[in-house]
Amino acid sequence: METKTLKLVIKILKRKYRSELRTQLIHKNTTELFVAALLSPQCSDLQVNKTTKELFKQFKTISDYDKTNLKTLQGHLKGLNYYKTKAKNLKKAARRIVARYGGKIPQRLDDLMTLQGVGRKVGNVILSEGYNIYEGIAIDTHCITVATRLKIERTGKPEKIESRLMHQLDRKYWRDVSNLFIALGRDTCRSRKKECERCVLNKICPSSDVIVGTKAFA
Ligand code: SF4
Repeated sequence: METKTLKLVIKILKRKYRSELRTQLIHKNTTELFVAALLSPQCSDLQVNKTTKELFKQFKTISDYDKTNLKTLQGHLKGLNYYKTKAKNLKKAARRIVARYGGKIPQRLDDLMTLQGVGRKVGNVILSEGYNIYEGIAIDTHCITVATRLKIERTGKPEKIESRLMHQLDRKYWRDVSNLFIALGRDTCRSRKKECERCVLNKICPSSDVIVGTKAFA
């Protein structure tokens, strides 16, 4: 897809999903964001928010996660997929943040990615949403579906999609494009069922089922 068309896509999506320009993971500070993002893989934001609502009442600092007993933490995370592994990751990550970073969530992707359970996607969410730092673009399964159907990148590989978008778009678009693709992927462009008839991109999307005269894509 040409950069001009991609920017048009973002403009249209911004109009439709204005309220979803920030992550839907509820948090009051960077520690809460870090924990929510770490717990988010393979779960809906709704599930994570339900769990963290209670969790955050008892765990205020990263050192609280470090000090707690693993079984206790697992008990708090029971509503999430892979909660046992996530509890272990959270404890290990907390240990390292306390020991290595003085209890503060790191502000560099390289540092974040040394923490247990943190990959590029989670790291990019923490940086962009927590610190307004844009080292990359968070690509989740919704972004993969949308980017593939928009023919931004055809392999479906997250790292290639990320690099393509970073190449085509200025840094100021990086957080928005991730959150907007997620919003679209949850709404009309779901992986199992797309609903092009009610999609705001149906006149310019190369995979649209809606027949129009000419589609503005390359
Ligand atoms: S037009 Fe259809 S395929 Fe294209 S983004 Fe919208 S829902 Fe997805």
